[in-house]
Amino acid sequence: ENTVVGFIGLGHMGSGMSRNLQAAGFKLVVTDLRREAASELLANGAEWADSAAELARRSDVVITMLPTPSIVSALLQGENGLLAGLSDGKTWIDMSTSVPEVADGVREMAAARGINIIDAPVSGMSVGAANGMLQIFVGADPELFAEHFPVLEAMGDPERIINVGGAGAGYAVKLMINQLWFSHLVATAEVLAIGTAAGVDLGVLRQSLIASPANSNFLESDVLSILNDGDYDEGFAIALACKDLGLSIDLARSVGMPSEVSALVEQVFRRARRSYGDSAGEMTPFKLYEDLLGE
Ligand code: NAD
Repeated sequence: ENTVVGFIGLGHMGSGMSRNLQAAGFKLVVTDLRREAASELLANGAEWADSAAELARRSDVVITMLPTPSIVSALLQGENGLLAGLSDGKTWIDMSTSVPEVADGVREMAAARGINIIDAPVSGMSVGAANGMLQIFVGADPELFAEHFPVLEAMGDPERIINVGGAGAGYAVKLMINQLWFSHLVATAEVLAIGTAAGVDLGVLRQSLIASPANSNFLESDVLSILNDGDYDEGFAIALACKDLGLSIDLARSVGMPSEVSALVEQVFRRARRSYGDSAGEMTPFKLYEDLLGE
């Protein structure tokens, strides 16, 4: 591959994703607030860039995998910003969980300069990022999607890299996935806690729910990693989960839709964040109910 990929944001997700791009043969230019996050990539031939503009100047495709929309937004602007370094025919792919407004704010200016913008958020957790099996939800015109499929394929499961609509659709799909996932988590934790407090054996309760029309993937698999292994997935910080829930609610507001369930779920997540700290895992809201039962 001759395409040079610039990668910004080498955290829980970006570290694995960039490693897989490198393994697939793409030449990489990388940057992060934490230079040490790049040491392995640099040792394997990646180049370091001191600013987003410099990174963009040296790349054909720039990927951002950053925590929040405001961080992405700030990174775009200014003489050291991403946009300053992009030119005709280059592409910015934002893979962060975010909202359409950030890209929309620069879309017109980018189009006038021949710059492509794609939203391609992911799911599959840090494990999926590490083993190149992410699901990727791509908001782009079909032609642009096809053109950039090889880059995406280096990070995701080819069967689950989906062109979900035009610009912004990827962000919307990803937010709805997390919203439903977190809703399952809270609803499941609540019924397991109530049933157990009412005297039913936890295992029997879970099996009964699984055999019922109320079964879910959460009950079948994810509850086990919590109950058996005490794994609250620290690869995804609860502070970021709270960010996602807030963005879901913002999206609902922006399209004039109610979001009652989302608001309740967000409250439970914020309670867990206060109780267990910003970097506790995304599954720690479950622990609120476990604590109520006194284990
Ligand atoms: P993270 O906090 O682990 O990593 C973010 C990285 O960005 C860090 O290395 C940080 O140093 C860097 N960074 C922050 N601000 C920067 C700046 N201005 N310039 C350069 N680098 C900067 O976050 P993560 O868990 O990797 O998540 C990244 C995105 O992916 C988020 O939008 C998150 O919601 C989403 N996401 C995460 C998961 C998961 O399981 N962790 C799953 C799907 C989607």
